[in-house]
Amino acid sequence: MKKVSTQLFFLFLFAQSINAQEIKLIGIAEPGGLLIGTGKNISAVYLNDSRLKVDKNGMFVMGFDRDAAGTQYLKVEFENGKKETKKIQLPKRKYVIQKLKIAEKFVNPPPEELERIEIESKYMKEARSKVGNIDSILFRKGFIKPAEGRISSVFGSQRILNSVPKNPHNGIDIAAPEGTPVLATSDGIVIIAGEDFYYNGNFILLDHGLGLSSIYLHLSKLNVKTGDKVTKGQKIGEVGSTGRSTSAHLHWGVQWYGNRIDPMSLLNISF
Ligand SMILES: [Zn+2]
Repeated sequence: MKKVSTQLFFLFLFAQSINAQEIKLIGIAEPGGLLIGTGKNISAVYLNDSRLKVDKNGMFVMGFDRDAAGTQYLKVEFENGKKETKKIQLPKRKYVIQKLKIAEKFVNPPPEELERIEIESKYMKEARSKVGNIDSILFRKGFIKPAEGRISSVFGSQRILNSVPKNPHNGIDIAAPEGTPVLATSDGIVIIAGEDFYYNGNFILLDHGLGLSSIYLHLSKLNVKTGDKVTKGQKIGEVGSTGRSTSAHLHWGVQWYGNRIDPMSLLNISF
């Protein structure tokens, strides 16, 4: 597992003025990183040209995709008309190449499964499109690692399955025996508690507000249902090996809207 250097952990303070305008950013600015911003008397926040939602306590979130690169511009407008722009330079991030041998049916699914896979993929797209409807931060209590166990696969690895290059690994894998409790990383709403999907197996997708979501794949058991409210640390399921999985583990993924976020970056955030 790659250890995140504490030197990378930073906090910006800028726009300090007689009006006590101050924006704090907590987190790691790198590809796959998540930043939480807080400030007073904010009227609008933009990341590049996209307007970000700001919750009633002046908090906002931004995440950088696995492949994000270059300079990002954070623009903050205050109620008194003042504006501040902060340049965020993303460092280059190297990802490991991971060669895996898995059952052939998961690399090239048999024709009779294609219809099912397509239906499930549409269903996932629809579910993911609902993330972003919650205008408040539900994760004010911070985040926890959702299962005890060794990190067996890190975020972002370029995967080669049975010699065929595939999509990068958009999460982390935590190896743990079947039945190990899976906990909600933070407060949230269950967008889907899905059963027996071809790739995901049994899984849970949580919405944490302001576009942030987390997903838990390959579960042996689900303890929640679609629409449930969950709290940080609540048991939502159990580790398993359902779907595209070779041995019992939890795949934990995080997205900010469609951006692929390294789940480990959440664990460096404390308010
Ligand atoms: Zn995984």
